[in-house]
Amino acid sequence: MCVLQATLQSLPDDPTHLALFLDVDGTLLPLAAAPADVHADANTGALLERLRALLDGALALVSGRPLEEMDRLFAPHIFAAAGQHGAEWRDAAGATGRHSVHLEELDDLRPQVLELAAGDARLLLEDKGLTLAVHFRRAPERARDLEAALAAALAVHPTLTLQRGKCVLEVRPAGCGKDTAIRRMLDAPPFAGRLPLFAGDDATDEDGFRFINALGGCSIKVGDGASNARYRLADPHAMCAWLAALAHTPASQAIT
Ligand SMILES: [Mg+2]
Repeated sequence: MCVLQATLQSLPDDPTHLALFLDVDGTLLPLAAAPADVHADANTGALLERLRALLDGALALVSGRPLEEMDRLFAPHIFAAAGQHGAEWRDAAGATGRHSVHLEELDDLRPQVLELAAGDARLLLEDKGLTLAVHFRRAPERARDLEAALAAALAVHPTLTLQRGKCVLEVRPAGCGKDTAIRRMLDAPPFAGRLPLFAGDDATDEDGFRFINALGGCSIKVGDGASNARYRLADPHAMCAWLAALAHTPASQAIT
């Protein structure tokens, strides 16, 4: 994987030729013990706002969080976004949509997941409406048995799939993910026709990396671990520093 400078070198000089897709947790913001403990300082929101202006609106957040949580994190800024791993979205004009094919099966499954999480006080269940997440950061030894239990429960629910993440297992709709979320955005202005860049940190971002690579775009993995991404940055601090460089100068001149 190449270094930051090579990443910048590969980008178009004119930022209006670039479409920026950014995961949130672990990419823009450091991870915390629980999702509710993650906070964004005002500088991060301001940086994203500056980039959005520079890119004529072609900036979107692509996260496992619901849209309303991203809005709370970056308030008062409201960005185009795909939430809940692509199960809901808001385009650059503010129009929203959601994936709903799986909701009946999710309702059927919900009691089983609730029961599973209730059996261990160290587990945190996050019911996001379109997805269900079981966080086990405080009980990492539960990873295998939780995955086995959820996989067994999902076997009879073809519209649902299991998403693995950092100390989290998530039930989400099958057939949508960060790759489909980015594809939807790229089909419409102001994203359409631009070189896409996607940065993420987790297993949930790998579909997005593969999709971006197939388009000849720029994929950036934040942090350690094997990845399909073509480039790598060390942590959210490095990611924000890289974005700041992009925001201040034409991309090719941002090489230091
Ligand atoms: Mg992440």
